[in-house]
Amino acid sequence: MSGRAQLMWDEAVTGYDFGPEHPMDPVRLDLTRRLVGALGLDREVDVVAAKPAGESTLRLVHREDYIRAVRAASVEPGSADQSYGLGTMDDPAFAGMHEVSALIAGLSVGAAEAVWRGEALHAVNFAGGLHHAMPGGASGFCIYNDASLAIARLLELGAERVAYVDVDVHHGDGVQAAFWDDPRVLTISLHEHPRTLFPQTGWPEETGGERAVGSAVNVALPAGTGDAGWLRAFHSVVPELIADFRPDVLVSQHGADTHFEDPLAHLAVSLDAQRAVQVACHELAHEYAGGRWVALGGGGYAVVEVVPRSWTHLVGVAAGVPVAPETVIPEGWRQEVFARTRQLGPVRMTDGRWPVGWAGWESGYDPADRLDQAVLATRRAAFPLRGLLP
Ligand SMILES: [Zn+2]
Repeated sequence: MSGRAQLMWDEAVTGYDFGPEHPMDPVRLDLTRRLVGALGLDREVDVVAAKPAGESTLRLVHREDYIRAVRAASVEPGSADQSYGLGTMDDPAFAGMHEVSALIAGLSVGAAEAVWRGEALHAVNFAGGLHHAMPGGASGFCIYNDASLAIARLLELGAERVAYVDVDVHHGDGVQAAFWDDPRVLTISLHEHPRTLFPQTGWPEETGGERAVGSAVNVALPAGTGDAGWLRAFHSVVPELIADFRPDVLVSQHGADTHFEDPLAHLAVSLDAQRAVQVACHELAHEYAGGRWVALGGGGYAVVEVVPRSWTHLVGVAAGVPVAPETVIPEGWRQEVFARTRQLGPVRMTDGRWPVGWAGWESGYDPADRLDQAVLATRRAAFPLRGLLP
């Protein structure tokens, strides 16, 4: 088994481009890859490409008629079938859409295969994490659900239990839907409350289908939640569930849109707290999943200020050489940022926050606090279904 982590990368992922008016600007992927290089992290990981997901792989999650609709829209964007969510404001059709979406899916499937076969202990695909795509339709900037496909491939290869932890600011609804009735997959999503954010799902009461009672866990965070609350929620829910479930593999989705600068949502999390959760996921993988960890990107629309730093930290954590927060960003990268975006890039790998340590759920519990109410709602709804105390 290789100790080295894999970074899944193919420059062609930057072709995942819904156009100049769309918030998911692929420059975020390019700038992340360049920052990984500028900090020398690409010498600490094996940078590998993978084949695009083929028809039989896509069919592990997606419906045949939907794949056909994506292929058709990819050839003739003007005739995209909106009944599949294609050609909409969120998911405009573009030429080559099928190919690049299948490539991103293939990189996550390749990450899963490498980790399962022991070619790498950890594998990162920051172009992935497209967690809103449904079995039969596009949604929320997502065409094919690479996270679901990676999990489905792990099950196909023989994994008996896969845990999915999603800390994107939006509910991981597509992954939850794909495995709603499958007790082999535990999905845990922390997100801004459905009352104030797309996709308006992810209520604590969503706990899995009849054949998989308790296999979905949702934490609906109040708008405005900052570092202390976000970390408290994570640590009050995730480690206990993972310790009990003992997954063969941990798959995590690290959407960077929880950040206070993100233009599309309303949490107030810093880069430093995002990094702390990346470190926590890494530790959970080692403690309970034999180290097997597939880490994905996700949302993130502060494409210069936040995304590249957040996912560069993720690569550093997976590589076993976490980037010190106070690290000064090489000037060459900032020049590249200016050339590409006419924006001034950030100077350091930190927001200057020092997220405080974690004292335990019961300590400091305040029944009047909205964050604690949110955590308690989740624990009450989901924990007893798994035989855990609320
Ligand atoms: Zn998101």
